[in-house]
Amino acid sequence: MILLNPGPVNLSASVREALAGPDLCHREPEFAELQASIRQRLLDVYGLLPAQWAAVLLAGSGTAAVEAMLTSLAPRGRKLLVVENGVYGERMRKIAEVHDIHHQTVSYAWGAAFDINDIRHVLDKRPEVSHVAMVHHETTTGRLNDIGELGDLCRARGVHLLIDSVSSFGAEPLDFERCGIAGVAATANKCLHGAPGASFVIVRRDALSGATPHTVYLDLASYCREQDARGTPFTQPVQIFYALHQALAELEEQGGWRARQWRYQTLARRVRTELAALGIRPLLGEHETSVVLSAFHLPHGMDYAALHDALKARGFVIYAGQGSFARDIFRVAVMGAITDADIERLVDAFRAVVRLSV
Ligand SMILES: *Cc1c(COP(=O)(O)O)cnc(C)c1O
Repeated sequence: MILLNPGPVNLSASVREALAGPDLCHREPEFAELQASIRQRLLDVYGLLPAQWAAVLLAGSGTAAVEAMLTSLAPRGRKLLVVENGVYGERMRKIAEVHDIHHQTVSYAWGAAFDINDIRHVLDKRPEVSHVAMVHHETTTGRLNDIGELGDLCRARGVHLLIDSVSSFGAEPLDFERCGIAGVAATANKCLHGAPGASFVIVRRDALSGATPHTVYLDLASYCREQDARGTPFTQPVQIFYALHQALAELEEQGGWRARQWRYQTLARRVRTELAALGIRPLLGEHETSVVLSAFHLPHGMDYAALHDALKARGFVIYAGQGSFARDIFRVAVMGAITDADIERLVDAFRAVVRLSV
């Protein structure tokens, strides 16, 4: 089955084999070595220096990393500004609510671009805002938010950025220095092509010094302290770590995030072009969409379940729209171990399915 949902992704044969590595106690030096190597490779993806940056490894899905980042790094006594234009921005707001983090939001319709002037206006009026949280790639619609533009503003004001990069880390540009980034949350099983169950936060080390824990389990400062000392506060998913280690080695062999961006771009363009020829319109233009995932309006006269089931019968899993988009759109992600031939078969499947429906 070819997975075109935004994670978990199809694994390469060697990543799958890595899952069957030897049993290992998380208090033994072999585990310390594995963990240290993954942490270094995660920094290497964007060329970050370990003196300034730390990769903190967690058990759990992407949301665990986002929740750890927000609860550990948003300081008490100041204010967090959450920018939302989709499900995952809204989820960051909910995390702030549940943990009583002093916050306010700037909200846009799902799929809309944010307007930097709105954010400038809030920062002008609210000097107590110390951090801005935003989703890089809003998987709800495929929109790639312009983190560079937001980062320039934040950096000029001395405000720190907290980024949900769960569906972009490893395949889209992230300029850590330019943007005044304090933390970036991401996961093993999307653009990095690992297995589900591990996630991480790339954190600027000096941002950790003022961190106040809101939870015992998701306290980034204590994870970082123990991982720097080659330990771990809690049991880690050892087999998932083996797979992530292998997946990171393959990313590097294949040319790093730029090569992966190019690869996704090639596959996504092929899908967009062929679907357009079948009269299936994209929700957003190519220049505002990530290379990772594209959203499309459902073919005329076909509901999502019918399209999904017909494609699944031919070996492909597409993804539904969320909330009010459930009736209108479907999504196609091109992450994971997918070949050109898979995409050609997908195009054939779409042709057959859409022809059947008219
Ligand atoms: C997938 C995703 C998440 C996390 O979802 P999990 O189900 O917890 O892995 C968070 N943010 C974005 C933008 C995502 O695409």
